[in-house]
Amino acid sequence: MSLLFKSFLNYICDMNILIENASQVVTCHTRGRKFKAGEHQSEIGLLINSSVYIENGRIKWIGKKLPVVLKKKHILKINAKNKTVLPGFIDSHTHLVFAGDRADEYSMRIKGSSYERIAKKGGGILSTVEAVRKASRNELLRLAEKRVDSSIGFGVTTIEAKSGYGLDTATEIKMLEVISKLNHIMPVDVYSTFLGAHAFPKDKTKDEYIDEILYEMIPMIAKKNLATFIDAFCEKDYFSPAQTEKIFRQGMKFSLIPKLHTNQFYSIGGVQAALSCGAISVDHLEVMTSKDINAMKGNDTIACLLPSVSYFLDIPYAPARKLIENKIPVAIATDFNPGSAMSENIQLVMSMAVQLLKMNVEETINAVTINAAAALGVSHNIGSIETGKQGDVLIFDTPNYKDILYHFGVSQLEYVIKRGEVIHNNPF
Ligand SMILES: [Zn+2]
Repeated sequence: MSLLFKSFLNYICDMNILIENASQVVTCHTRGRKFKAGEHQSEIGLLINSSVYIENGRIKWIGKKLPVVLKKKHILKINAKNKTVLPGFIDSHTHLVFAGDRADEYSMRIKGSSYERIAKKGGGILSTVEAVRKASRNELLRLAEKRVDSSIGFGVTTIEAKSGYGLDTATEIKMLEVISKLNHIMPVDVYSTFLGAHAFPKDKTKDEYIDEILYEMIPMIAKKNLATFIDAFCEKDYFSPAQTEKIFRQGMKFSLIPKLHTNQFYSIGGVQAALSCGAISVDHLEVMTSKDINAMKGNDTIACLLPSVSYFLDIPYAPARKLIENKIPVAIATDFNPGSAMSENIQLVMSMAVQLLKMNVEETINAVTINAAAALGVSHNIGSIETGKQGDVLIFDTPNYKDILYHFGVSQLEYVIKRGEVIHNNPF
């Protein structure tokens, strides 16, 4: 390594960032709470004409004028006059590792073709399974890398990704290895979820497949340390609440944390099964009875809503207002996947949360920052701009945070900063 290069590297590593004089800093501060619920979900901790200083990857100071004692040699200064600073967005529910293309299927569906007809013509989830089984690790990685990169461009600094398009041990492991590799090579954190219980494969009975999940997949995934979370699709004709619980309990024996796809089409007891296993989040919730809502009250479990699925499939939207009124913490995520939500644009999903879930702007911002962090169990470290937290910060080219949602369909995002490093810059 040349001396010049080495000193350049030291310079970069020593680099600290001062975001100076932002018109607004939306802190989403928690004051020690894990998430925001009820009326607190509208509190965003707004600071006017303020600066944020990030040192060694962590937020060191927030205020009006940087104290002399903190002034270091290597400070990258970003003039944030007329700009707005927010915590990095967190996409806590995606299926971004996949191969194949379902654009033709989408077109057929729009013209009125039924799911059964589409499946007969080779579409549906099993077509993605076939494509993922055929794809090499490198092909899957190359495709996923591009998608994570695109997510970063919309302000995502932490993302979750699930397996679930393998439905056999080898392919589920292959997908999780791709997610683990993404976490190493991409500048953002990528959390991994094992979703073997996404659907049933064609070539096995339901019991045979559940046994494979319980006794082959889970122990192997734990041994290889390939996932943080375990998930299932608890729905009529998919996994029952009893099957889901069995899978979760086995996962928990191997330290996997449950989160669940449930109540998308029917209320069949998925919420209750998830809560009985202490799930960190229950996701979807388009169909919620008052019994389901009552069961969620007073728990720390996050309701993770996915409005782009309702938009894309033309199904009912989750009752966000009812959940918030009942003090249930709400997160939102893209559910980026090739079948039911083909978009990684978290800002678009935020717009849907406001327009279609009837969440206010502040609730929506908390739903993709602090509450999304809580859905991944990391709200002590990310999700808000508070001293000591990781320096994951966005700078938007507007003096008013409300403009980010008001001016929909475009991104005014100028800087994406992860652990104190600029990882995306779009100069205006
Ligand atoms: Zn999903």
